[in-house]
Amino acid sequence: QAGQIADSMGYKIYAAGGLVRDVLLGQESLDVDLVVEGDGIRLAQELGKIYDVRVRQHPKFGTAEVVFSDEFKIDVATARVEFYAYPAALPQVESSTLHQDLYRRDFTINAMAVALNENSFGTLIDFFDGREDLQYHTVRVLHNLSFIEDPIRILRAIRFEQRYGFKIEPQTLKYLKETVRRGVLARVSNERLWEELKHILLEPEANSMLRRMGELAVWPDVFPRVNYWEVEPVLKDLPQSMRQISDWGMMPLNSRWLVYFIAVLHWSDTGVARNICEKYGISKRQTEKVLAALQGWSRAVALIWKAPQYVKVSHLAKVLLQMPRESYPMLLAILEDEKLKERFRQLLNIIEDSKPKTNGKYIKHLGYRPGPVYREVLDALWRERLDGNLRTEEDEHAFVRD
Ligand code: ATP
Repeated sequence: QAGQIADSMGYKIYAAGGLVRDVLLGQESLDVDLVVEGDGIRLAQELGKIYDVRVRQHPKFGTAEVVFSDEFKIDVATARVEFYAYPAALPQVESSTLHQDLYRRDFTINAMAVALNENSFGTLIDFFDGREDLQYHTVRVLHNLSFIEDPIRILRAIRFEQRYGFKIEPQTLKYLKETVRRGVLARVSNERLWEELKHILLEPEANSMLRRMGELAVWPDVFPRVNYWEVEPVLKDLPQSMRQISDWGMMPLNSRWLVYFIAVLHWSDTGVARNICEKYGISKRQTEKVLAALQGWSRAVALIWKAPQYVKVSHLAKVLLQMPRESYPMLLAILEDEKLKERFRQLLNIIEDSKPKTNGKYIKHLGYRPGPVYREVLDALWRERLDGNLRTEEDEHAFVRD
């Protein structure tokens, strides 16, 4: 459809970037990234009209987004060349042609396009041998100043390398290391850094990306004063622990990134963790989760280690429940020993199964006015349940009445 519209407007149009890469890799891709030799914004408006959907315009950049849903957007760009005012600054837009548009991209594998106009439909445009690099599993920059121009590409190189099991090409690796050494990454805004970092923490291969960031000495720029090697053993086991906990039906999938974030910070002191949360604008609620995990994990591990007859289940449950669920995969990874892991699983099950059946309604029915006493009674009830002292609802009622 976009091709036909472009034909009718006399524009050339291409699909570019990640979509072309993923199609050539035989993988699904959600991002559609169109490049128009013509007025990209006008074309986006036409698409919006035809599909009756919203179009967000950015005239300053000559770009627009056609928004079909939260998950599906089409980015439309006007073929252009960008000049960087100074390293690590936002791009400034000038004008002109597909070649220049592709040349400003990060890696050869992301710098291919496919023609969408009717008479050339499907033709691959590959000025920089991206297809060959895909074939040989290589991440390669287009020119030697690429990382200096936009240091966020350091993290992107690591992300693509680890996501696809590729290798960063030796010369590119040399430029990357050189840029890291020059400390240019520190000049990237925290917002951009976080955007890329969160992307990494949401990837299935997040742990190997973090490892590579450690190897390539990127870590101090991204997690200041956190020692990678201290947290490495836990990060390594995190994917397996996440899978295990999710198999037990207990994994909150919507905050996967927080699972990694907590594991990265778990060895740090509160001040360091708080600074990093602030740096990345982490919300107050999430920051509290991070801090609760930091404060609770060693006590939880020590209690799980103790022989069960010496620890009240209710005591352990209290410690665990003060920690966010997103810290449980990390706990599991720290436990290491299979027997301890199994004890942890049983504990989570007991906690899950021990929620009292009685609630505030019953207390009200006994004639008590709502107030803090409700919480106290219900907490006490739960503790008794956890320790196995109350089995039936009748037992619970009798306990509450007492
Ligand atoms: P993903 O599959 O992770 O979404 P993607 O390649 O689609 O990967 P986007 O961040 O959506 O990633 O970027 C789309 C395209 O824009 C990339 O393929 C690349 O061509 C270009 N691009 C994105 N970020 C940069 C950058 N920092 N420097 C140069 N080109 C970039």
